[in-house]
Amino acid sequence: MGRIVVTGGAGFLGSHLCARLLDRGDQVVCLDNLITGSLSNIEHLFARPGFTFVELDVSTYVWVPGEVDAVMHFASPASPIDFERIPIQILKVGSLGTHNSLGLAKAKGARFFLASTSEVYGDPLVHPQPETYWGNVNPIGPRGVYDEAKRFAEAITMAYHRHHGLDVRIVRIFNTYGPQMRPDDGRSVSNFIVQALQGRPLTVYGDGSQTRSFCYVDDEVRGFLALLDSDLVGPTNIGNPNEFTILELAQAVLEVTGSASEIVFEPLPVDDPMQRKPDIARASEHLGWKPEVELHAGIEATASYFRQVLGL
Ligand code: UDP
Repeated sequence: MGRIVVTGGAGFLGSHLCARLLDRGDQVVCLDNLITGSLSNIEHLFARPGFTFVELDVSTYVWVPGEVDAVMHFASPASPIDFERIPIQILKVGSLGTHNSLGLAKAKGARFFLASTSEVYGDPLVHPQPETYWGNVNPIGPRGVYDEAKRFAEAITMAYHRHHGLDVRIVRIFNTYGPQMRPDDGRSVSNFIVQALQGRPLTVYGDGSQTRSFCYVDDEVRGFLALLDSDLVGPTNIGNPNEFTILELAQAVLEVTGSASEIVFEPLPVDDPMQRKPDIARASEHLGWKPEVELHAGIEATASYFRQVLGL
Protein backbone atom coordinates (compact mmCIF):
# COMPACT_ATOMS: atom_id res chain seq x y z
CA MET A 1 0.00 0.00 0.00
CA GLY A 2 1.29 3.43 -0.86
CA ARG A 3 0.44 6.96 -1.90
CA ILE A 4 0.28 7.23 -5.67
CA VAL A 5 -0.01 10.33 -7.85
CA VAL A 6 -1.88 9.72 -11.11
CA THR A 7 -1.57 12.51 -13.69
CA GLY A 8 -4.45 12.44 -16.15
CA GLY A 9 -6.41 10.58 -13.49
CA ALA A 10 -9.78 11.82 -14.78
CA GLY A 11 -9.16 10.44 -18.27
CA PHE A 12 -10.29 7.12 -19.71
CA LEU A 13 -7.33 5.02 -18.55
CA GLY A 14 -6.39 7.22 -15.59
CA SER A 15 -9.83 6.93 -13.99
CA HIS A 16 -9.83 3.13 -14.22
CA LEU A 17 -6.31 3.11 -12.80
CA CYS A 18 -7.32 5.34 -9.84
CA ALA A 19 -10.21 2.97 -9.05
CA ARG A 20 -8.03 -0.16 -9.11
CA LEU A 21 -5.35 1.50 -6.93
CA LEU A 22 -8.01 2.42 -4.35
CA ASP A 23 -9.38 -1.15 -4.51
CA ARG A 24 -6.05 -2.52 -3.41
CA GLY A 25 -5.66 -0.03 -0.56
CA ASP A 26 -3.44 2.64 -2.08
CA GLN A 27 -4.09 6.32 -1.52
CA VAL A 28 -4.52 8.22 -4.79
CA VAL A 29 -3.82 11.84 -5.65
CA CYS A 30 -5.49 12.41 -9.01
CA LEU A 31 -4.26 15.37 -11.08
CA ASP A 32 -6.05 16.50 -14.25
CA ASN A 33 -6.68 19.75 -16.12
CA LEU A 34 -9.92 18.25 -17.53
CA ILE A 35 -8.99 19.16 -21.11
CA THR A 36 -9.97 15.68 -22.27
CA GLY A 37 -10.60 14.04 -18.89
CA SER A 38 -13.93 14.47 -17.15
CA LEU A 39 -15.18 14.73 -13.59
CA SER A 40 -17.94 12.28 -14.49
CA ASN A 41 -15.21 9.60 -14.83
CA ILE A 42 -14.15 10.05 -11.20
CA GLU A 43 -17.24 11.32 -9.38
CA HIS A 44 -17.83 7.82 -7.95
CA LEU A 45 -14.33 7.95 -6.39
CA PHE A 46 -14.75 11.14 -4.32
CA ALA A 47 -16.51 9.33 -1.48
CA ARG A 48 -13.81 6.66 -1.23
CA PRO A 49 -11.20 6.91 1.53
CA GLY A 50 -7.77 7.89 0.28
CA PHE A 51 -8.91 9.69 -2.88
CA THR A 52 -7.96 13.31 -3.60
CA PHE A 53 -8.47 15.28 -6.79
CA VAL A 54 -6.53 18.41 -7.79
CA GLU A 55 -7.35 20.33 -10.98
CA LEU A 56 -3.94 21.11 -12.38
CA ASP A 57 -2.14 21.36 -15.73
CA VAL A 58 0.99 19.25 -15.28
CA SER A 59 2.59 20.99 -18.29
CA THR A 60 2.79 24.14 -16.15
CA TYR A 61 3.88 22.75 -12.78
CA VAL A 62 3.36 19.76 -10.50
CA TRP A 63 3.58 19.79 -6.74
CA VAL A 64 2.00 17.46 -4.24
CA PRO A 65 2.60 17.92 -0.51
CA GLY A 66 3.53 14.92 1.63
CA GLU A 67 5.04 11.54 0.88
CA VAL A 68 4.65 9.99 -2.55
CA ASP A 69 5.57 6.38 -3.40
CA ALA A 70 4.89 6.46 -7.14
CA VAL A 71 4.06 8.98 -9.86
CA MET A 72 2.05 7.44 -12.70
CA HIS A 73 2.08 9.85 -15.65
CA PHE A 74 -1.05 9.29 -17.72
CA ALA A 75 -1.82 12.89 -18.66
CA SER A 76 -2.12 13.32 -22.43
CA PRO A 77 -4.82 13.68 -25.04
CA ALA A 78 -4.50 10.42 -26.98
CA SER A 79 -7.13 10.23 -29.69
CA PRO A 80 -6.30 10.92 -33.35
CA ILE A 81 -8.95 13.68 -33.42
CA ASP A 82 -7.00 15.45 -30.65
CA PHE A 83 -3.83 15.39 -32.77
CA GLU A 84 -5.33 18.05 -35.07
CA ARG A 85 -7.43 19.87 -32.44
CA ILE A 86 -4.85 20.41 -29.66
CA PRO A 87 -1.40 19.51 -31.08
CA ILE A 88 0.58 22.00 -28.98
CA GLN A 89 -0.96 20.80 -25.71
CA ILE A 90 -0.05 17.22 -26.68
CA LEU A 91 3.57 18.20 -27.34
CA LYS A 92 3.70 20.17 -24.10
CA VAL A 93 2.30 17.45 -21.86
CA GLY A 94 4.57 14.82 -23.41
CA SER A 95 7.65 17.00 -22.92
CA LEU A 96 7.13 19.66 -20.19
CA GLY A 97 4.48 17.60 -18.39
CA THR A 98 6.72 14.54 -18.34
CA HIS A 99 9.66 16.66 -17.14
CA ASN A 100 7.58 18.14 -14.31
CA SER A 101 6.22 14.72 -13.31
CA LEU A 102 9.74 13.25 -13.32
CA GLY A 103 10.83 16.18 -11.14
CA LEU A 104 8.10 15.34 -8.62
CA ALA A 105 9.16 11.67 -8.55
CA LYS A 106 12.81 12.64 -8.08
CA ALA A 107 12.04 15.12 -5.28
CA LYS A 108 9.95 12.51 -3.45
CA GLY A 109 12.25 9.54 -4.09
CA ALA A 110 9.25 7.91 -5.78
CA ARG A 111 8.98 5.35 -8.57
CA PHE A 112 8.04 6.90 -11.94
CA PHE A 113 5.65 5.10 -14.28
CA LEU A 114 5.26 6.48 -17.83
CA ALA A 115 2.21 5.76 -19.95
CA SER A 116 3.77 5.47 -23.40
CA THR A 117 2.17 4.09 -26.53
CA SER A 118 2.36 1.72 -29.46
CA GLU A 119 2.44 4.94 -31.52
CA VAL A 120 6.19 5.05 -30.82
CA TYR A 121 6.35 2.26 -33.45
CA GLY A 122 4.62 4.57 -35.99
CA ASP A 123 3.55 2.72 -39.15
CA PRO A 124 5.54 -0.38 -38.20
CA LEU A 125 7.68 -2.31 -40.67
CA VAL A 126 8.17 -5.12 -38.14
CA HIS A 127 5.12 -7.18 -37.23
CA PRO A 128 4.17 -7.94 -34.49
CA GLN A 129 6.03 -5.21 -32.63
CA PRO A 130 8.55 -6.22 -29.92
CA GLU A 131 9.93 -3.61 -27.52
CA THR A 132 13.28 -3.81 -29.32
CA TYR A 133 11.80 -2.34 -32.53
CA TRP A 134 12.74 1.35 -32.95
CA GLY A 135 9.74 2.25 -35.03
CA ASN A 136 8.84 4.07 -38.23
CA VAL A 137 7.47 7.49 -37.32
CA ASN A 138 6.90 10.52 -39.55
CA PRO A 139 8.06 13.31 -37.21
CA ILE A 140 6.37 16.13 -39.17
CA GLY A 141 3.05 14.47 -40.01
CA PRO A 142 -0.21 15.11 -38.11
CA ARG A 143 0.38 12.12 -35.80
CA GLY A 144 3.97 13.23 -35.15
CA VAL A 145 2.82 15.55 -32.34
CA TYR A 146 1.73 12.55 -30.27
CA ASP A 147 4.28 10.00 -31.47
CA GLU A 148 7.28 12.27 -30.99
CA ALA A 149 6.01 13.64 -27.67
CA LYS A 150 5.82 10.08 -26.34
CA ARG A 151 9.20 9.17 -27.83
CA PHE A 152 10.68 12.23 -26.09
CA ALA A 153 8.87 11.20 -22.88
CA GLU A 154 10.52 7.76 -23.06
CA ALA A 155 13.92 9.35 -23.75
CA ILE A 156 13.76 11.75 -20.80
CA THR A 157 12.43 9.00 -18.53
CA MET A 158 15.43 6.79 -19.37
CA ALA A 159 17.75 9.81 -18.95
CA TYR A 160 16.39 10.37 -15.42
CA HIS A 161 16.93 6.68 -14.76
CA ARG A 162 20.53 6.69 -16.01
CA HIS A 163 21.55 10.15 -14.86
CA HIS A 164 19.65 10.49 -11.56
CA GLY A 165 19.18 6.81 -10.71
CA LEU A 166 15.38 7.28 -10.73
CA ASP A 167 13.40 4.05 -10.49
CA VAL A 168 11.27 3.98 -13.68
CA ARG A 169 8.76 1.83 -15.55
CA ILE A 170 7.51 2.46 -19.10
CA VAL A 171 4.36 0.87 -20.49
CA ARG A 172 3.66 0.93 -24.24
CA ILE A 173 -0.11 0.88 -24.41
CA PHE A 174 -1.82 -0.59 -27.48
CA ASN A 175 -5.39 0.26 -28.55
CA THR A 176 -7.56 0.02 -25.45
CA TYR A 177 -11.33 0.38 -25.16
CA GLY A 178 -14.10 0.12 -22.60
CA PRO A 179 -16.45 2.13 -20.38
CA GLN A 180 -15.46 5.76 -19.72
CA MET A 181 -14.21 6.30 -23.27
CA ARG A 182 -15.62 9.55 -24.59
CA PRO A 183 -18.52 8.82 -26.96
CA ASP A 184 -17.20 11.58 -29.25
CA ASP A 185 -13.56 10.57 -28.86
CA GLY A 186 -13.34 9.82 -32.59
CA ARG A 187 -11.72 6.43 -32.31
CA SER A 188 -12.81 3.34 -34.15
CA VAL A 189 -14.36 1.48 -31.20
CA SER A 190 -16.25 4.46 -29.77
CA ASN A 191 -17.32 5.75 -33.21
CA PHE A 192 -18.59 2.35 -34.39
CA ILE A 193 -20.50 1.53 -31.20
CA VAL A 194 -22.12 4.97 -30.95
CA GLN A 195 -22.97 4.93 -34.67
CA ALA A 196 -24.46 1.42 -34.38
CA LEU A 197 -26.53 2.35 -31.32
CA GLN A 198 -27.85 5.50 -32.99
CA GLY A 199 -28.65 3.68 -36.24
CA ARG A 200 -26.18 5.77 -38.23
CA PRO A 201 -23.72 4.36 -40.82
CA LEU A 202 -20.43 3.01 -39.48
CA THR A 203 -17.58 5.08 -40.94
CA VAL A 204 -14.72 2.79 -41.98
CA TYR A 205 -11.69 4.79 -43.12
CA GLY A 206 -9.85 3.47 -46.19
CA ASP A 207 -10.88 -0.03 -47.29
CA GLY A 208 -10.86 -1.29 -43.69
CA SER A 209 -7.99 -3.72 -44.30
CA GLN A 210 -5.70 -1.93 -41.80
CA THR A 211 -5.38 -3.86 -38.53
CA ARG A 212 -5.42 -3.09 -34.82
CA SER A 213 -5.35 -5.30 -31.72
CA PHE A 214 -7.91 -4.19 -29.13
CA CYS A 215 -7.44 -4.65 -25.40
CA TYR A 216 -10.30 -4.34 -22.91
CA VAL A 217 -9.57 -1.74 -20.25
CA ASP A 218 -9.74 -4.12 -17.25
CA ASP A 219 -7.02 -6.32 -18.78
CA GLU A 220 -4.92 -3.29 -19.64
CA VAL A 221 -5.06 -1.78 -16.13
CA ARG A 222 -4.25 -5.17 -14.54
CA GLY A 223 -1.12 -5.10 -16.71
CA PHE A 224 -0.22 -1.58 -15.46
CA LEU A 225 -0.37 -2.71 -11.83
CA ALA A 226 1.70 -5.82 -12.51
CA LEU A 227 4.31 -3.66 -14.23
CA LEU A 228 4.26 -1.04 -11.47
CA ASP A 229 4.98 -3.74 -8.88
CA SER A 230 7.67 -5.44 -10.99
CA ASP A 231 11.34 -4.65 -11.38
CA LEU A 232 11.09 -4.22 -15.18
CA VAL A 233 12.86 -1.01 -16.15
CA GLY A 234 12.53 -0.09 -19.82
CA PRO A 235 9.53 -0.27 -22.12
CA THR A 236 7.02 -3.10 -21.80
CA ASN A 237 4.19 -3.69 -24.26
CA ILE A 238 0.78 -4.19 -22.67
CA GLY A 239 -1.89 -4.96 -25.24
CA ASN A 240 -4.05 -7.71 -26.64
CA PRO A 241 -2.33 -9.59 -29.48
CA ASN A 242 -5.63 -10.65 -31.12
CA GLU A 243 -5.46 -8.73 -34.37
CA PHE A 244 -8.50 -7.64 -36.41
CA THR A 245 -9.00 -5.62 -39.56
CA ILE A 246 -11.03 -2.46 -38.99
CA LEU A 247 -13.74 -3.91 -41.24
CA GLU A 248 -13.88 -6.97 -38.94
CA LEU A 249 -14.21 -4.65 -35.96
CA ALA A 250 -17.13 -2.84 -37.61
CA GLN A 251 -18.81 -6.18 -38.34
CA ALA A 252 -18.27 -7.35 -34.75
CA VAL A 253 -19.91 -4.16 -33.46
CA LEU A 254 -22.93 -4.72 -35.74
CA GLU A 255 -23.23 -8.34 -34.53
CA VAL A 256 -22.99 -7.50 -30.83
CA THR A 257 -25.34 -4.50 -30.92
CA GLY A 258 -27.78 -6.12 -33.36
CA SER A 259 -27.76 -2.84 -35.29
CA ALA A 260 -29.03 -2.61 -38.87
CA SER A 261 -26.63 0.24 -39.69
CA GLU A 262 -24.76 0.05 -42.98
CA ILE A 263 -20.99 0.38 -43.35
CA VAL A 264 -19.70 3.34 -45.40
CA PHE A 265 -16.13 3.98 -46.51
CA GLU A 266 -14.36 7.32 -45.97
CA PRO A 267 -10.81 8.50 -46.78
CA LEU A 268 -7.94 7.06 -44.75
CA PRO A 269 -6.28 9.69 -42.49
CA VAL A 270 -2.67 10.72 -43.25
CA ASP A 271 -0.01 8.34 -41.86
CA ASP A 272 -2.64 5.93 -40.53
CA PRO A 273 -0.66 2.80 -39.51
CA MET A 274 -1.45 -0.21 -41.72
CA GLN A 275 -0.96 -2.82 -39.03
CA ARG A 276 -0.46 -3.06 -35.29
CA LYS A 277 -0.11 -6.00 -32.95
CA PRO A 278 1.92 -6.25 -29.74
CA ASP A 279 4.51 -8.88 -29.08
CA ILE A 280 3.73 -9.53 -25.40
CA ALA A 281 6.46 -12.09 -24.65
CA ARG A 282 8.14 -9.73 -22.17
CA ALA A 283 4.94 -9.05 -20.20
CA SER A 284 3.89 -12.69 -20.20
CA GLU A 285 7.32 -14.01 -19.14
CA HIS A 286 8.17 -11.42 -16.51
CA LEU A 287 4.74 -10.33 -15.25
CA GLY A 288 2.72 -13.48 -15.92
CA TRP A 289 0.25 -11.13 -17.63
CA LYS A 290 -2.03 -11.90 -20.52
CA PRO A 291 -5.36 -10.40 -21.59
CA GLU A 292 -8.52 -12.37 -20.90
CA VAL A 293 -11.49 -10.42 -22.25
CA GLU A 294 -12.50 -11.43 -25.75
CA LEU A 295 -13.53 -8.75 -28.28
CA HIS A 296 -17.27 -9.51 -28.39
CA ALA A 297 -17.59 -9.46 -24.58
CA GLY A 298 -15.65 -6.22 -24.39
CA ILE A 299 -17.78 -4.57 -27.08
CA GLU A 300 -20.92 -5.67 -25.20
CA ALA A 301 -19.70 -4.06 -21.96
CA THR A 302 -18.68 -0.88 -23.77
CA ALA A 303 -21.98 -0.69 -25.67
CA SER A 304 -23.94 -0.94 -22.44
CA TYR A 305 -21.91 1.99 -21.05
CA PHE A 306 -22.60 4.11 -24.14
CA ARG A 307 -26.32 3.20 -24.01
CA GLN A 308 -26.39 4.55 -20.48
CA VAL A 309 -24.47 7.82 -21.10
CA LEU A 310 -26.33 8.57 -24.33
CA GLY A 311 -29.71 7.66 -22.80
CA LEU A 312 -30.42 5.04 -25.50
N1 UDP B 1 -11.09 4.35 -38.02
C1 UDP B 1 -12.17 4.10 -38.85
N2 UDP B 1 -13.35 4.73 -38.58
C2 UDP B 1 -13.53 5.57 -37.55
C3 UDP B 1 -12.43 5.80 -36.68
C4 UDP B 1 -11.23 5.18 -36.95
O1 UDP B 1 -12.06 3.34 -39.81
O2 UDP B 1 -14.64 6.09 -37.39
C5 UDP B 1 -9.83 3.66 -38.30
C6 UDP B 1 -8.59 4.54 -38.25
O3 UDP B 1 -8.37 5.16 -39.50
C7 UDP B 1 -7.52 3.50 -37.93
C8 UDP B 1 -8.26 2.48 -37.06
O4 UDP B 1 -9.64 2.68 -37.32
O5 UDP B 1 -7.09 2.84 -39.10
C9 UDP B 1 -8.01 2.64 -35.58
O6 UDP B 1 -8.24 3.95 -35.26
P1 UDP B 1 -8.33 4.47 -33.78
O7 UDP B 1 -8.64 5.92 -33.85
O8 UDP B 1 -9.25 3.62 -33.01
O9 UDP B 1 -6.90 4.23 -33.16
P2 UDP B 1 -5.40 4.45 -33.71
O10 UDP B 1 -5.42 4.94 -35.13
O11 UDP B 1 -4.82 5.43 -32.79
O12 UDP B 1 -4.82 3.11 -33.61
